[in-house]
Amino acid sequence: MQQQRLVILGAGESGVGTAILGKQQGYDVFVSDKSAIKTHYKNVLNQFEIEWEEQQHTEAKLFNADVVMKSPGIPDTVSLVKSLREKGIPVISEIEFAGQFTKATIVGITGSNGKTTTTMLTHHVLKEGGLNVGVAGNMGKSFARQVAEESFDEYVLELSSFQLDGIVNFRPHIAIITNITPDHLDRYDYKFENYIAAKFRIAMNQTENDYLIYDADDEVVVNGLKTYKVKSTLIPFSLKNKQENGAYIEGNNIILTIQNKTITMPTDSLALEGQHNTKNAMAASAVAQLLNIRKQTIRESMSGFQGVEHRLEKVLKIQNVQYINDSKATNINATYYALESMTTQTVWIVGGVDKGNDYAELLPLVHEKVKAIICLGVDNSKIIEAFGGVTDLMVETTSMSEAVKIAHKIAEKGDNVLLSPACASFDLFENYEERGRQFKAAVRAL
Ligand code: ADP
Repeated sequence: MQQQRLVILGAGESGVGTAILGKQQGYDVFVSDKSAIKTHYKNVLNQFEIEWEEQQHTEAKLFNADVVMKSPGIPDTVSLVKSLREKGIPVISEIEFAGQFTKATIVGITGSNGKTTTTMLTHHVLKEGGLNVGVAGNMGKSFARQVAEESFDEYVLELSSFQLDGIVNFRPHIAIITNITPDHLDRYDYKFENYIAAKFRIAMNQTENDYLIYDADDEVVVNGLKTYKVKSTLIPFSLKNKQENGAYIEGNNIILTIQNKTITMPTDSLALEGQHNTKNAMAASAVAQLLNIRKQTIRESMSGFQGVEHRLEKVLKIQNVQYINDSKATNINATYYALESMTTQTVWIVGGVDKGNDYAELLPLVHEKVKAIICLGVDNSKIIEAFGGVTDLMVETTSMSEAVKIAHKIAEKGDNVLLSPACASFDLFENYEERGRQFKAAVRAL
């Protein structure tokens, strides 16, 4: 058979990983990036003798592709992608490409919030249960590169809607939809429907022998099950209603029943606090049950998990004030759960680049729990308008160290200081990680 040509657009972690896997599988591989490629990745591509170009797309080298892998950061609307599709060349995502070359059992996790936390928690419990399990998504080595270089029996994959947009045959044996709230609408014609449809693609190739674990309290998800004609065996989790085949709360316990096996776990034994994390724990435990991990191991894993940086991460207690880094909260829903999980009065640091936030949803929680608001953004006008009359104190700041120092002055014994911005970070910071790190450094410098 003639050698197939694989063209890769975007030389980040997923692009370079796909290139390595493609080369290993005998493709003629070419990598093209419109921006400059990081030196580290150039070195890797050279080491594997993979041809690449940067700061340009040479059409003659792209339009002879048999298949194109597009990095998730590149929108479908760019003219190059449109032209490739018009010529009938399939444009797929990394998981679609890599999924063909592994026999591992795939656990795929999507949702608007909680993907990383649930992915890490699921990986943790499966690993503790003795499985030879890999993890990929927004962290570490790409899935494609691991398929090329490792030999895991299971993978836990964090899947963005952009990764799912580019699948054709990809079929996780177990899928999780943590929740669906509006996000990234700029990439979906500003239509929530389109974004929901993208999330449900996670189940589109599943059969009744596969499982879909989902939040039964989320109306958008529940309605989507009908709209998208899901065939998978359903495993709902709920904080509100009893579930015969799934997880729910009774008293202070999680009750999880799958295939007539029931496990009970006290909610106060869970390592991660907050109602949203109870849901994440239900979803991760359901996966563990399906993969036959022992009950005792599941319980121990849920109570021993260390948490993930920048997600309700407890930094330090100073003069009996708890400082919490939730820099990853870049939308209203994430901040909602952060505020909800606060058990004492809170000084709240909020602001940044707002992706169309409606702050009204937070009003009752802010009323109840927030004693002062510290705005940290270039333009704070919407926040000031929304919460102006709600708290006693509102301060505008333009640097993290200033924000933390003021929070320290305001907070009294027993209070929390919470960084949960509800906004993206790039007005004042490089990314949310940088924002979280600056917060922690400023706290440690108090
Ligand atoms: P993602 O990978 O989907 O962005 P993360 O696990 O990184 O999700 O968490 C992002 C933010 O959402 C954090 O502020 C976290 O505290 C919050 N969060 C985590 N799980 C949930 C959930 N199930 N529902 C709502 N918010 C959540």
